[in-house]
Amino acid sequence: MTRARVLLLTAALGPLDYRVPQGSEAPLGSVVIAPLGPRRIGGVVWEDESFGAPDPVGDNRLRNLYEIVPVPPIAAPLRRLVEWTSDYYLSPPGSVLRMLLPGVAFADARRPIVEYRATGELPARMTPQRTVALGKIGARQGTVRELAKLADVSEAVIRGLVHVGALEAVSASADQPCPEPDPAFAPPDLSAEQTAAAAQLRAAVAAARFETLLLDGVTGSGKTEVYMEAIAAAVDAGRQALVLLPEIALTEPMLTRFAARFGCEPVAWHSGLRSTERRRAWHAIASGEARIVVGARSALFLPYARLGVIVVDEAHETSFKQEDGVHYHARDVAVMRGYFEGLPVILASATPALESLAQVEAGRYRHIQLPARFGGATLPDLAAIDMRQDPPDRGRWLAPPLVDALADRLEKGEQSLLFLNRRGFAPLTLCRTCGHRIQCPNCTAWMVEHRLVHRLACHHCGHVMPPPRLCPECEDEDSLVACGPGVERVADEVALRFPEARTAIVTSDTLWSPARAAEFVANVEQGLVDIIIGTQLVTKGYHFPNLTLVGVVDADLGLDGGDLRASERTFQQIAQVAGRAGRGVKPGEVLIQTRVPDAPVMAALVAGDRDGFYAAEAAARRAAGAPPYGRFAALVISSEDIEVARGVAQRLGAKAPVADGLAVYGPAPAPLAMLRGRHRFRLLLHAPRSFDLQGTIRAWVDSIDWPAKARLAIDVDPYSF
Ligand code: ADP
Ligand code: ZN
Repeated sequence: MTRARVLLLTAALGPLDYRVPQGSEAPLGSVVIAPLGPRRIGGVVWEDESFGAPDPVGDNRLRNLYEIVPVPPIAAPLRRLVEWTSDYYLSPPGSVLRMLLPGVAFADARRPIVEYRATGELPARMTPQRTVALGKIGARQGTVRELAKLADVSEAVIRGLVHVGALEAVSASADQPCPEPDPAFAPPDLSAEQTAAAAQLRAAVAAARFETLLLDGVTGSGKTEVYMEAIAAAVDAGRQALVLLPEIALTEPMLTRFAARFGCEPVAWHSGLRSTERRRAWHAIASGEARIVVGARSALFLPYARLGVIVVDEAHETSFKQEDGVHYHARDVAVMRGYFEGLPVILASATPALESLAQVEAGRYRHIQLPARFGGATLPDLAAIDMRQDPPDRGRWLAPPLVDALADRLEKGEQSLLFLNRRGFAPLTLCRTCGHRIQCPNCTAWMVEHRLVHRLACHHCGHVMPPPRLCPECEDEDSLVACGPGVERVADEVALRFPEARTAIVTSDTLWSPARAAEFVANVEQGLVDIIIGTQLVTKGYHFPNLTLVGVVDADLGLDGGDLRASERTFQQIAQVAGRAGRGVKPGEVLIQTRVPDAPVMAALVAGDRDGFYAAEAAARRAAGAPPYGRFAALVISSEDIEVARGVAQRLGAKAPVADGLAVYGPAPAPLAMLRGRHRFRLLLHAPRSFDLQGTIRAWVDSIDWPAKARLAIDVDPYSF
């Protein structure tokens, strides 16, 4: 009889033993379906020794595995990565495993999924709901469930539309072959500097050994062109390549760019895929047929058959940090994957994270620099506008020098970009009469006005409400006023000042799909947009040669709050958005609106002194024992019942571990004291780098009894403070 230990796809349980049915084989790494009580649950055959004590169930009482799923086994290096991730981020291994094996992994790749699309026929009986649904569906196709979600109606409504002939089934063949990228399709003529950098990357791929390479090049230096050479080398060697991007919105333009270089689009992986696409992608990745994969951070855990290189583009981006479920940092996990698999990892950035530069300094990462823009383009000039001396008109947000610069670009037919990292119209709605502020009922957060869609929305939980006419508190009429600017309000000001200018607002509200993102890029490239007004979504990736002016509407926005990375983030964000200016033959200008032009970060930006800024920042962090020289971990205890959450936090606080070098702060209300209807308390740990934070936290958390109504989230190396 063969016994197999199986790590199941559930957070609640460790591995369990099963019997391998006679005549079947289930070597290590096999993907299986197992019985769990009355349920069927997926899992992976794992080493006996990995997770603690053996399963005590005797041979004669073992249950049979239901099925060995016919997909390639999860290889040993990836199993080690699952263990490391679980250990380091203090997350159940079953939760980590789910990132490798989404539901589509278990679907038969040959069974067709039925998708539907509009026929153009209107049903005889049109209900308002059907009209709205068909309007929202438009020309898109998807399964019944996907269309229901898209149109925000029940599945019954969609099935009704199929029944009356307004939607028709289309056969979505699930196993279309992936096109083969051709490394020789359109290689660029690299400059001497680029050639040297590319040669190092190619050699690292050929060596097929673990190494981390920091590709550190100014904006527009050709980092993408250069790392594509490493990818070409991997494809030439019969390997797969993975490129991680920080935003879904960047995938579509990147796919197009890869198609121009390699003759066909890579395989995409992100949360916006339809289930057919997702299923096709997963199986092509696992079989090795998908040669180049471009994806969001979740692409990192997939079971590549023959991975040869990982590229993390815009590697400094904080969106690589996952803030729910398994709280992992994709940049760090990418490096660990490279370590376990024995392959090179390339971190590309114009403004590397301080953590990455510290690794270079320590001799652990190889530093590859591209100090100049490609093709003779120069870096833009940065200047600060002191908002105390040059304030905008009352109720306006653009200072006179910025307005003049915009007018100048309009006259010359050049494009401008206004950057403000705030979605919506106004971040706060206030009653002039009684001072009431409209707050989210579920979160400690103001409701943000989104005027384009006539809604107030909470940016934390997604709660929306129509804008009230009366103050909810004093019931005064016409007393509610919008406070502060969001991108929509800046767009209003632009429209008022320059009625002839063609503008585009770019936020996750307007660029919610890859198709919308592609449309935006095409419009700007064809010169159909004069002024772009956008959030951090426009700060990276884009290359618009005719864009010569960048205005940073509120450079101080990110400096408030207690975030230890506030200065670094501000530097990176402004340097990145500045990098959108002057990428063609015309030089670029960047105007930074700030009330603290003398702050070191502003001074460094204006002086172009990146090294000086990083050195000062590193010194300050070292003195404070902050990352990367020390470590933090946060424990957030939450419950719908505030007393339960407070009680657990206090009991935990009373048993706080005591050790040399370790400091424990709290419990205190978490920065978002209420989130999605749950009250949150936080304990923060601070320790030197070498301290065993994980072991300490594990023992500590086990030392108290947890009521069922309290939940614990552990964030190792937290990013939001
Ligand atoms: P980065 O990623 O460093 O910001 P990109 O790789 O996006 O830079 O390059 C900036 C622009 O210059 C892109 O339009 C790119 O196609 C172009 N470019 C860079 N290097 C070359 C090259 N060797 N030959 C042709 N075009 C290049
Ligand atoms: Zn909310």
